[in-house]
Amino acid sequence: MEKILNYIDGTYTEPQSNNWLDNYNPSNGEVYSQIASSDADDVAQAYQAAEKAFPKWSNTTIDQRSRILLKIADLIEENLVKLAEAETKDNGKPLSLALAIDIPRASANFRFFAHAITQFASEAHESVGLDSMNFTLRQPLGVVGCISPWNLPLYLFTWKIAPAIAAGNTVVAKPSEVTPMTAYLLGDILTKAGLPKGVLNIVQGTGPSAGQAIVEHPNIKAISFTGGTKTGEHIARTAAPMFKKLSLELGGKNPNLIFADCDYDTMLKTTVKSSFANQGQICLCGSRIFVEESIYEQFKKDFIEKISQLKVGDPFDAETNLGALVSKSHLEKVQSYIKIAEEEGGKILFGGKTVTVDNLENGYYLQPTVIEVYDDQCRVNQEEIFGPVVTIMPFKTEAEALKMANGVQYGLSATLWTNNLDRTMRLSKQLQAGIVWVNTWLNRDLRTPFGGMKNSGVGREGGFEALRFFTEPKNVCIKY
Ligand code: NAD
Repeated sequence: MEKILNYIDGTYTEPQSNNWLDNYNPSNGEVYSQIASSDADDVAQAYQAAEKAFPKWSNTTIDQRSRILLKIADLIEENLVKLAEAETKDNGKPLSLALAIDIPRASANFRFFAHAITQFASEAHESVGLDSMNFTLRQPLGVVGCISPWNLPLYLFTWKIAPAIAAGNTVVAKPSEVTPMTAYLLGDILTKAGLPKGVLNIVQGTGPSAGQAIVEHPNIKAISFTGGTKTGEHIARTAAPMFKKLSLELGGKNPNLIFADCDYDTMLKTTVKSSFANQGQICLCGSRIFVEESIYEQFKKDFIEKISQLKVGDPFDAETNLGALVSKSHLEKVQSYIKIAEEEGGKILFGGKTVTVDNLENGYYLQPTVIEVYDDQCRVNQEEIFGPVVTIMPFKTEAEALKMANGVQYGLSATLWTNNLDRTMRLSKQLQAGIVWVNTWLNRDLRTPFGGMKNSGVGREGGFEALRFFTEPKNVCIKY
């Protein structure tokens, strides 16, 4: 059975403990490979490689770094089909999605930061009258840790790694143990692209073992983490006494506010996507849908009509809209919320049941599910489900819609459907979210700040924000 190895100091290596984890294919429920179950010894080995590589890498010219990143981007693109198929097998997402979004975006992440680093500049402040001049150095931090989740495996892994190495750091990185395959395959690409040994070390294994060892390592200077809010809280608690720099991209429970004055057809089409893309397993999915009362009944009918046309099935089938959920335990978690919804008096308008797919009877398939709720404070409306489940509810006034939108502990993104400019401005300012989309969804310009408010995280990724995170500003004041 294929082994998913660590990539340390430019070489694929087995875990020192020789412990392994089963890796499942969610589309059929079968174990198809073994994952290195790394621990603190492997993280220490990765750290040493990164530490050794740092002096040279941090002094490599911007042009050289940029060229290597561009090479990695090209190689990801050249391996599009192989990587997309690997992602689909590992994660259960439709191949069409991995081909169109996940892998192209992984390549774009490297290409974007290859260019961004050539434009990254620091400030100078002349103290007029004091005969002194200040300038800010932006130096790489040293060895940094990057930890990513399973929902967009290579996409989110590279979103952290690319700015970290572009800024001159060396890295110990860990993908999710639920979807380790494409990060493993990236190792070969890094070698082919000529990335010097030790600049990027990939350690496979579980959060409590390998992940915890990265966070606890006394010399790893910063942690860039994307994952659940509970894990983020734990990481913050561990890292804070060591004064590590932290970037935390956490969970969401994003509102989708639909006003009667919107462009209805575009809204309807996009809302189907923002509800169920990647089986609803995108942190930016709009899982709470609030609809203005005057169009509520119409929306309900049209939305369900559209959803009933979605095909749940083999992720490798080109016709499939929703593939498998990522794991058995995640499927069970999502199902438990459907049960909670019923106990709370919610009405299942569509879905709610598992789907048996021909020849893939043991896969983790669930119908897209729409639940009508009557109280925005109910648990299914408050807690992150992270699956193909949305709630819908009517509202009467803008003030009521805003109150419900903000009435959760999360604050990642919000989507607003309206053609009223005044309302757009008013709500954009008042919505408690790091990202507000108006008349669109998942529309991303990589230069923009990305991240959440409240329990959705601390800090921002994207563009120069990421390069600022991965560098230490140092002011130099010269008296003349
Ligand atoms: P998770 O928190 O369980 O795991 C994320 C990563 O952290 C994995 O690599 C895991 O191994 C590691 N980890 C777990 N415990 C750890 C520990 N003690 N120390 C160090 N690392 C540890 O999250 P998940 O289930 O993989 O991903 C789903 C969650 O991620 C959802 O809540 C989703 O909203 C969130 N997410 C957020 C964003 C964002 O940009 N804000 C993007 C994608 C996903």
